[in-house]
Amino acid sequence: MQKITLLGSTGSIGRSALDVISRHPDAYQVFALTANSNVELLVAQCQQFRPAVAVIKDDTLVDQLAERLQALSLATVVLSGEAGLCQVSNANEVDTVLAAIVGAAGLEPTLAAVKSGKRVLLANKESLVMAGGLFMDAVATNGCTLLPIDSEHNAIFQCLPRNFGPLAEVGVERILLTASGGPFRTTPLEQLLSVTPDQACAHPNWSMGRKISVDSATMMNKGLELIEACWLFDAKPEQVQVVIHPQSVIHSMVQYTDGSVLAQMGNPDMRTPIAHALAWPSRIDSGVEPLDLFAVARLDFEPPDLRRFPCLRLAMQAAEAGNTMAAVVNAANEVAVEAFLQERIGYMAIAEVIEATVERVAMPVAKDLETVKAVDLQARAKAAEVIVRGRQTIGVPLAGLEPAP
Ligand code: NAD
Ligand code: MG
Repeated sequence: MQKITLLGSTGSIGRSALDVISRHPDAYQVFALTANSNVELLVAQCQQFRPAVAVIKDDTLVDQLAERLQALSLATVVLSGEAGLCQVSNANEVDTVLAAIVGAAGLEPTLAAVKSGKRVLLANKESLVMAGGLFMDAVATNGCTLLPIDSEHNAIFQCLPRNFGPLAEVGVERILLTASGGPFRTTPLEQLLSVTPDQACAHPNWSMGRKISVDSATMMNKGLELIEACWLFDAKPEQVQVVIHPQSVIHSMVQYTDGSVLAQMGNPDMRTPIAHALAWPSRIDSGVEPLDLFAVARLDFEPPDLRRFPCLRLAMQAAEAGNTMAAVVNAANEVAVEAFLQERIGYMAIAEVIEATVERVAMPVAKDLETVKAVDLQARAKAAEVIVRGRQTIGVPLAGLEPAP
């Protein structure tokens, strides 16, 4: 019986993970569930899965959560804050931590799991983007088993040999990281200026949280994934090629020196990579419909247009830079995406805010976690300032900065 802490259980990945877990009550037991502020759903999940602990990140909601659980006669212990999240990540009772918090907030609790040598199922790509070197060092030092849940990285993992070492030694030439191209792959460029949050979140193939949906539209998601792939598979940025594949049926590929290209395919449903990581090296039922190739009928591929997707270009630069530029890009992106979702800036301004932030903050080498956290905070403050002061004061061409109509 694997005992599991599910960080971010009320999110899109969290809910998919609980769906898979609920199909295998004899194999998996939920030790802890966590949410930022969604008490309602957390209570419902506690009622169904009876975890030993529930963590609410927002301290002001602790009493409300405790009262609701008590009213249902549940013995679940309530914790809160980042300390509570870290506590359920490194608790002795826990074998596996599924890291599905969104954004930089996932870094410390995920690292806590790594540092206590847990089996870590990683959805929170931002923790690798921010602190990949420190993170992978901690994985090695603590003998942690790290299994990627991000569908592309899970696909790459499946296409690599078991216990792979350096890529060159197992004959890998390139990683082909597939991307759907999002909802605006073919939208005329001038129309992108007036895109709304709901349009940006309407992904053609995947149903996801709002932040990652916007990231998919701008292709920042693919940029973050490129950085994630470099850390996970010890690849150089030039060994990872982004390939737009609008059907989202191939989830990524590995190209070998002998000319072979291995692909992992399936319906676009996160329950497949979640089930793979949960059961690895075995296989379990995920509840996903089998792939119907005749219904898919065709698979298309095209190179990404960096003019259409400036966020991808910025993330590619960060992957090359090797310092804390990736943390800066990640932080500025989180601030800009939030501002876009609140309709404070236009869609095209997201990349401009990130670029203006990169030009205005120091990006030292990530020598320790304190450095990374300081850079993250500085980048957030600078990005917020860029948004507030806008084009007049900052003096950069923030063409998309007007609020979306
Ligand atoms: P989501 O917004 O649906 O859910 C996020 C979860 O994190 C929720 O449970 C929320 O309560 C919690 N959370 C949010 N802010 C928090 C904070 N400050 N402190 C603590 N907890 C907080 O997001 P999602 O789509 O499920 O994505 C989760 C992670 O998985 C992201 O890193 C994303 O990039 C990655 N991912 C998601 C998908 C997908 O299909 N949704 C695919 C691949 C990777
Ligand atoms: Mg992905």
